[in-house]
Amino acid sequence: HPEKWCRGFNHFISQCLIKDFEKRPSVTHLLEHPFIKQVHGKDMSLQKQLAELIQEQQQLGSVAKTRHEQIHTRGPYHVDRADKYSLDDDLVNLEVLDEDTIIHQLQKRYADFQIYTYVGDILIALNPFQNLSIYSPQFSKLYHGVKRSSNPPHIFASADAAYQSMVTFSKDQCIIISGESGAGKTESAHLIVQHLTFLGKANNRALREKILQVNPLVEAFGNACTAINDNSSRFGKYLEMMFTPTGAVMGAKISEYLLEKSRVIKQAVGEKNFHIFYYIYAGLYHQKKLSEYRLPDKKPPRYIDNETGRVMHDIVTKDSYGRQFEAIQHCFRIIGFTDEEVYSVYRILTGILNTGNIEFAAISSQHQTDKSEVPDPEALDNAAALLSIGSEELQEALTSHCVVTRGETIIRTNTVDKAADVRDAMSKALYGRLFSWIVNRINTLLQPDKNICGMNVGILDIFGFENFARNSFEQLCINIANEQIQFYFNQHIFALEQMEYQSEGIDAATVEYEDNRPLLDMFLQKPMGLLSLLDEESRFPQATDLTLVDKFEDNLRCKYFWRPKGVELSFGIQHYAGKVLYDASAFLEKNRDTLPADIVVVLRTSENKLLQQLFSSPLTKTGTFCTYSLMDLLSKMVVGQPHFIRCIKPNDDREALMFSHERVLLQLRYTGILETVKIRQKGYSHRILFEEFVKRYYYLAFKAHETPLGSRENCLAILEKSKLDNWILGKTKVFLKYYHIEQLNLFLREV
Ligand code: ATP
Ligand code: MG
Repeated sequence: HPEKWCRGFNHFISQCLIKDFEKRPSVTHLLEHPFIKQVHGKDMSLQKQLAELIQEQQQLGSVAKTRHEQIHTRGPYHVDRADKYSLDDDLVNLEVLDEDTIIHQLQKRYADFQIYTYVGDILIALNPFQNLSIYSPQFSKLYHGVKRSSNPPHIFASADAAYQSMVTFSKDQCIIISGESGAGKTESAHLIVQHLTFLGKANNRALREKILQVNPLVEAFGNACTAINDNSSRFGKYLEMMFTPTGAVMGAKISEYLLEKSRVIKQAVGEKNFHIFYYIYAGLYHQKKLSEYRLPDKKPPRYIDNETGRVMHDIVTKDSYGRQFEAIQHCFRIIGFTDEEVYSVYRILTGILNTGNIEFAAISSQHQTDKSEVPDPEALDNAAALLSIGSEELQEALTSHCVVTRGETIIRTNTVDKAADVRDAMSKALYGRLFSWIVNRINTLLQPDKNICGMNVGILDIFGFENFARNSFEQLCINIANEQIQFYFNQHIFALEQMEYQSEGIDAATVEYEDNRPLLDMFLQKPMGLLSLLDEESRFPQATDLTLVDKFEDNLRCKYFWRPKGVELSFGIQHYAGKVLYDASAFLEKNRDTLPADIVVVLRTSENKLLQQLFSSPLTKTGTFCTYSLMDLLSKMVVGQPHFIRCIKPNDDREALMFSHERVLLQLRYTGILETVKIRQKGYSHRILFEEFVKRYYYLAFKAHETPLGSRENCLAILEKSKLDNWILGKTKVFLKYYHIEQLNLFLREV
């Protein structure tokens, strides 16, 4: 019907205009549009929609105004050397550049709840240790597609920059969040996901919901309370959010690195197991379902009860763990796990808890002292029942092992200690494989339509640098990963940039920085790097942790390694972030990470389909465990255009508004912030080939139908037309300051 068709058409055009408007700042602009003017009076739903837009616009305006006033009516700082400091949000604008000035600037801002500060295109985030009301949807709107200088620095602005860059140049982006344990990386990663889901408005609301549940679910399994952080990441996470070519979110994918499995079986004093174990135990306790999962109700299982009495007290008196369990159930459901899968996960988790309660005793006979048995079969039977395997078979696999020699298989008994080790190795393997399965399952459920060729923004959030009273293999892996991230940062911010000045014949002042390359070489070089030596030693059955440290000492002759006198199993490393003393006990065993074949054989007989699946893949690999994961991590990051967020921990007491001068200074030093400010001040962070530059920006100086050559002259024409200053032309590239890109993109939009 023509009239109906016409109404539909008008409505469609209006919607397009409104959609387009969302990217523009002014509502009057829209109301002035001739088409809207024409249909406005006739279309009720359009009227309503416009009225809502106006209201929203007013609200945003008032938020912006308040924020602006908050910042600009503060008046001058009343401090001794106030004249030295600029009030600017970007450290690059500081006139006096030294550590003192930077730190005072950050301190002032922190006292004023301004936790974010720019260093050019890099964001510094100070952990506020309290909830701030600056992350609501209104703030997402405020930071959407506007000039960076329109608002105070914010993590949403950084997420926005990555998103805009992806959409404008159809290029993958990656946001690298670094900082020591407890500095706020994981919280920052959440906020970025929140803002990106807001920006990538999919029509598919269910998908948005799913993506928002990914972090909470994975973190319940991969985070734990440590001496430094109550919600410490015990694995590295790279979350890729995938978008269609027009920027609508269409899926997500997570990669996980180096889960700290040893935490399942043992935790240091004052630390805890992975969150999920407390959630499930408390949840089942409150739902009165402990007996269904064969768990005791008087005393929690050994794996989660290292502070006698405390855990049970918390579970009974506080309901928070129980509520967390409900939240996890909700996450599973929203993401799309089936009830059967979730049930299998719970059975495996409670199976692990029961496995931990299996105890062994020596069978003492005259001739044999190396034989063990399970005196009290209750935990054994419970574990076997939950894992849907035979109890006798499990006992055999724990207390004895098969040895194949010259084609013959013989059975040898396990001592009590060996049996306990096998039990713990089984628990670790179960948890590690369950974790990987959950991650893979999420990836399948959030996989985008394969036919759409999209782009992505990756967010890297790993475990931060750690230095405890006792540091083991896990801390070494964690600290090496951080060392690599620091190297990656240096490469991007200093090395690559300065190399290009030289090759392009540009005279930009050089900035000295602390290069951690020699240290990384000490770890990664083949065949004499620390990790290669560790792998080599892991292959000798006769090797001990002591022979390992001897080997390190003999081969690693450099200033970054030392061996303290008097403590045999200890060695020290001078990391980029400080000196760490490691205790090498159990290094070989942890690096070997083997699971006896006998256990695998039993677990494969399970009637639980999920469990069968977990152990159907090839057996564990020996050695190279740590090296392999690190390489994988780095190769991922190199793909996209990087954006850096540097989290800083203002104090070690997790106190709001407390700013420890000494601690912040240390972090500023080892992350090279002062040098970063210098290079952003003097340098050119964007170097674009002539051809690429003309392709991107030719609209600014040429007609749309023209196809100008990617020549130096054409670049010059565009640059002159755009009236930017301070750029330089090299031999093959245009050298731009970090702020030029935003200006050029804004010009483009206006054109
Ligand atoms: P780890 O390396 O141990 O995983 P992390 O850098 O990921 O540490 P987070 O877990 O993100 O650290 O932060 C530690 C704690 O600091 C959080 O649990 C939270 O209490 C607080 N925190 C961090 N960032 C913020 C923020 N933006 N707003 C409020 N609180 C925050
Ligand atoms: Mg974390």
